[in-house]
This record gives sequence, structure tokens and C-alpha cells, in this order.
Amino acid sequence: MKNKKNNQKNDDLLGINKKIDRRDFINSTLVGAGTALYSMLSPTASLGDASRDLYLPNQVGDNWYGYGGVGDSKDSHGNTPEILKGAHALRDGLITQKNISQIDASEKYDLVIVGGGLAGLGAAQRFNELYPEKRCLILENHPIFGGEAKRNEFNVNGSIITAPQGSNSFYYKTKNSDIKEDLKYIDILNIPDEFSYASMKNNDEELVFAQEHYDVQLWGEEFISKGYFVDQQSHNVEPQWIKNIWQDKLKRFPVSEKIKKDLLSWKYAKDIPNDDHMTNAWLDSMTYKDFIEKVMGLDVAVTKFADPVLASAGGMGCDVMSAYIAKQLGMYGLYPDAPVNPLNRHSFPGGNDGFARHFVKLLIPGAIAGKNNFEDIMNNPINFNRLDHEGNKIRLRLSSNVIDVHHTSKSVNVTYYKNNELTKINAKAVVMASGGWINKHIISDLPQTYKNAYDQFNHAPMLVANVALTNWRFLKKLDITAYQWSGGFGFHTNIRKPMHIGNYKPDLDPDKPITLTFYVSFEKTNQGLSAKEQSRLGQYEMLGKSFMQYERDIKEQMVRMFSSSGFDPKNDIAGIILNRWGHAYVTPTPGFFYTPEGGPGYADIIKTQPFGRVSFGHSELRGYQHWGPAAAEGSRAVDQISEYI
Ligand SMILES: Cc1cc2nc3c(=O)[nH]c(=O)nc-3n(C[C@H](O)[C@H](O)[C@H](O)COP(=O)(O)OP(=O)(O)OC[C@H]3O[C@@H](n4cnc5c(N)ncnc54)[C@H](O)[C@@H]3O)c2cc1C
Repeated sequence: MKNKKNNQKNDDLLGINKKIDRRDFINSTLVGAGTALYSMLSPTASLGDASRDLYLPNQVGDNWYGYGGVGDSKDSHGNTPEILKGAHALRDGLITQKNISQIDASEKYDLVIVGGGLAGLGAAQRFNELYPEKRCLILENHPIFGGEAKRNEFNVNGSIITAPQGSNSFYYKTKNSDIKEDLKYIDILNIPDEFSYASMKNNDEELVFAQEHYDVQLWGEEFISKGYFVDQQSHNVEPQWIKNIWQDKLKRFPVSEKIKKDLLSWKYAKDIPNDDHMTNAWLDSMTYKDFIEKVMGLDVAVTKFADPVLASAGGMGCDVMSAYIAKQLGMYGLYPDAPVNPLNRHSFPGGNDGFARHFVKLLIPGAIAGKNNFEDIMNNPINFNRLDHEGNKIRLRLSSNVIDVHHTSKSVNVTYYKNNELTKINAKAVVMASGGWINKHIISDLPQTYKNAYDQFNHAPMLVANVALTNWRFLKKLDITAYQWSGGFGFHTNIRKPMHIGNYKPDLDPDKPITLTFYVSFEKTNQGLSAKEQSRLGQYEMLGKSFMQYERDIKEQMVRMFSSSGFDPKNDIAGIILNRWGHAYVTPTPGFFYTPEGGPGYADIIKTQPFGRVSFGHSELRGYQHWGPAAAEGSRAVDQISEYI
């Protein structure tokens, strides 16, 4: 009883019971949504095996999904409850071939693309380029296109502020980091050469901001006004902020001299392995933890320091991820160009949703209101009724969950679920631009070799929490724009310097609204668990928590760090949007790229040979997931089946 009272008091202080946006959401948007799938399928009913139950919470309702913000993406943030239930029901064999065989195909297309993320859009762009006269349909199961590249929008006191749901940034015009496929699409999509950013009022040059959320986590942190929070819980010291820890070679950082020395050897390593096939295969035979501790000979504390950073960019920690993917993600000891200047990296207001919008405008000119220019494409509303218009050469059908793909004698049938109905369509060929965790279940005639290869893939969860602030005075008081901590909710967040596009011009002013984006991974390192076990536990944890529990976690974490600089959770937080990605990243473990037997990596088995008229093009097939290569994977998949189109 006493505990309950204390919790209530704590919640009052955190503003948990204050009427904020999530309440409005519960009262309106979701009531009744998805009921058809819920009632049609009872995912837990057939679960004889408890391990399946582990990552399938029984209830994913409105108190789970939470507030979705405003604008075109308000109903689609991370995994939606409907898709979670539907996809898991499919996995558990609750939709049968008998249901599907009773339906006739109602439409015919030259190509069907499953998935409207950047890979699917890249596939459609290639189709458009090759076949100006032919027709293609993209089926996407979310209420909006973009996949992991979507936006969240808040309206804070009349100002719209935008943040990424997942995929956040891109390189452009950097000496060493430009990726040729990014450059190719930047050209095709006619993305501008220069971007304009907000600057601080009163020309306050003291505060330095990153323009995005990744380089500031490690690679470029010394260029930014960044603070580390340490306290009793994390380092056995009085709570305090240490600004720019690398500036004096970790002198003020409360760890032993040995750990300081090892962290510096790691960060400033110059003896970098070669970039050739033999060396890369060798790196892919070990974890990054083994590379740090056995090859570099450094303390386990270095591995722990690297864990959340690697997981934030790749899904899991150093104990399971291949040293070769760590190299591709630029981790220290393996990357010759560190540290990097984070001002070479950019982020559109809604992250890489900017690229998705440009693809869609190119393919379906009426899809976004206004002219074909950067400002209109980024800022104008989506014309949802134009996406699947009969006259379109490329049609994009949303909220359409593909549940079966299989060959007929000279074509492929694709069945999807939309508005309580199953619909079958027929295509000459199909590109699967959806991830392996779903492909292996929905292609009903998929040969065992592909299934076996897909079984080697592991997908890790990721929570991206966007927190809208009414002001960020509490950070200004500390003279920081980015901060890191260990223990508790998340490990890092920062203020992005807002990109200005046309009328979208948020201020960079400590008394004005801004968003913080928390990338939260679920690695369970140092427990001897496999990548799959860690991911299942992480999915269970992430999918099992209610919105309100996360709201509490976020607010408590911020109070722990900022109460002394004036943070007030009741008034400083205007809204929270949770984007829960159950299968955010494929997590390449040793052998993903070069199998121990010397054969092709698992991804190569899937991508080098289409299965009949069905080819596979999804970012995970690169291991290193990135927007341009994702689109290029889709494009490659179209080329592979062109003989059938
Ligand atoms: C948290 C996070 C941060 C990231 N940050 C960056 C970054 O900063 N920069 C960067 O370049 N990349 C980043 N990425 C990587 C990003 O995943 C890729 O760049 C790219 O956006 C992936 O595109 P995709 O089309 O391959 O996959 P997805 O975006 O996953 O698209 C696949 C689409 O298929 C749909 N689908 C699945 N099953 C079905 C079905 N049965 N029926 C119909 N539709 C279906 C899905 O809903 C989804 O929309 C990040 C990823 C995550 C998770």
C-alpha cells in the first residue's frame, strides 16, 4: 500500500498523470482499429512451444502503441499493433493455404514489389527506368511508405517539429565516407547540393551541435559540445557532468589508469588491418569483442564502452557481432579515418524519409502536393488517394499485408490482407523487398536452401523514442547539446541542428521547442547468450512494455541527470512518440559474409540466384544497412528477373 502511494507521488512529480497528447490518442485514433485481425486470429492459441510466446506479448493495444504525433505519419510509428499481430499469426501458421486457394486473382501486373521501404522504392525506380510502358504494383503493409525511413511530427505550442522514426542520416560530399550508390540516387532524385541549418540566436558560437544523431555517439564527439553523466550508479562517484571527455585524454573520466590507457589505444589506433578479401574473411571469423580483447589486447572495459555504440548502429553488442561488420560500421581499431568531422553528415527533418518522399514523387508525380522541388516534396502533404490510382503506371497500395507468394506455371500469385479481406493478384515476376524474417514465411513454395540461409539471419530490435521538449534551457545551463550516460534508459541523445527547408524553419533557441531522439538497443552482453537469444529477450522486453512504462523510464532518466540544471518533466516535455522496431537490423555474426567452410556468405545464397520469377532485394542482404545500398539492392533484384517482365 505504502509502495503504491510512493509510486503515485513519483508519477505526479514526473507528470505521468498530466493530460498530454497520449491521452488524446487513446481516446480517439486507435479505438476499434485492427479489430478484424485481432478477432480473426488468435496468435497465442496455437502456441505449443513456450519459446515462441517469449517474444509475442498477448496484448498489443492502444496503451501499448501510444501517441503518434500529427501529420501524415501519425498512424504509423514503428511496428503497428495490426502488423505485429498479423505477421506473428502468419509465422504461427494461422493463415492456411486452404483460405488462399479459394480466392481468384483479381488484377494482373508486370511486376509486384513487396515492401515500400527504400529497397522497394529502388526496385520501382529501376522498373520505371527499364520499362516505361509496363505496370507495377508496390504492396506495403504500413499506412505510409518509407519502411524504417519515416518521420514523426509534433505540434508543440503551434510549432511543427519533425524527427526521424528510425533511419536518420546520410553522408554527402565527404572525402572518404561517400557511398557511390548514395551519390547515384542523390543525382537521380535531384537532391540539392547545399543544405541550410538553423543557427543559435545571438550568434552563440560556444555551443556546437551535430546535424544528425550518429557521428556524435563516438566518431565525431570531440567536435561537439557533449557531456558525459557519471554518478554513484554508473561509476561510484558523486553525480556530475564531464564535458568533452577526450579533450584532456580522459583525465577527468572516473575509470582506472589502465582503462584510460586502453580506451585511448582503441580510439587512436593507427595499426589498422588491410582492406582485402583475406583480411576481411579473417575479421569475419571473429567477434568484435575478440578483436578488441585478443587482437588489440585491450581491457574488457573497452568492449563495454563500445557495446551500445555498435548496437545502436548495428543492433547487437561486440560479443556477437562480426569484427567485419564492426569495420563496415567504422568502429575503432578497424577504421582508418576516425575521428570524423560530424558536420559532414546530414539529416533531413524526418531523417531519411526525405529520400523515400523523393522516390515516390519521381514514380508517382501526383503523390505529394505541389511542384517537383525539394521544398514541396519535403513539406507538402501526401495525396494518399493518388498513390494507388488506376491510371498510374506505378501503383503504391498501403496497409496491404502480403501473406502468400507462390508460383503458378507461368506467373506468380500474391495474396494480401487489407480491410478485413484477402485479395489475390497475379504478376509476371515479384521482388521481395521485405526482410528475411517475413519472406521465409510468406513464399509458400520457397526451396529449403533459401530457408536454411534465411534461418542464419538474426534480426535485433530497436526502440527509437522521440521526445518533444517545450524548451532545452536545462541543457544550455550545462553548455551541452549532446550527452551520454551508462545504466538506465538508453545511453545517448543529442539535439540535431534543425535543417531549414522553405517554410519549415524551427528556431535553435533554448527557450523554444526541439526534439531529442533516443536510440535504444537491447544487447544483453557478457551473459554468454547468442545473438538470437539476446534478440528474442530484447524483443520481449521492448514489445512487452506499455507506453506509460516507457514514459516513466524516459522521464526518470532525465530527472536523474537534469534535475540539478532545472529540468521539470511536467512542463519541459510536450510529447513522446515511441517507434518500436521488432526486426530493426540484421545482425551479422561471424560467418555472415564469409562462411567458415569458405563458401558464399548466407546473404549471397539469397541474392545471387532468384527463385524462379521471385528475386530478393532488401537492405539486410548487404549486412551493412544503409539507404543508398538498400535502393540498389531493390534495383539489382529487378535486373535479375528482367527476362520474365
Ligand atoms: C533505428 C535505425 C536507424 C537507422 N539509421 C540509418 C541511417 O542513419 N542512415 C541510413 O542510411 N540507414 C539507416 N538505417 C538503415 C535502414 O534500415 C536502411 O537505410 C533502409 O531504410 C532500409 O530499407 P529497406 O527497404 O531495405 O527496409 P525497410 O525499411 O524495412 O522496408 C521494408 C518494407 O517492407 C514492408 N513489409 C514487410 N513485410 C511486408 C509484407 N508482408 N507485406 C507488405 N509489406 C511488407 C515493411 O513494412 C517495410 O515498410 C537505420 C535503421 C534503423 C532500424
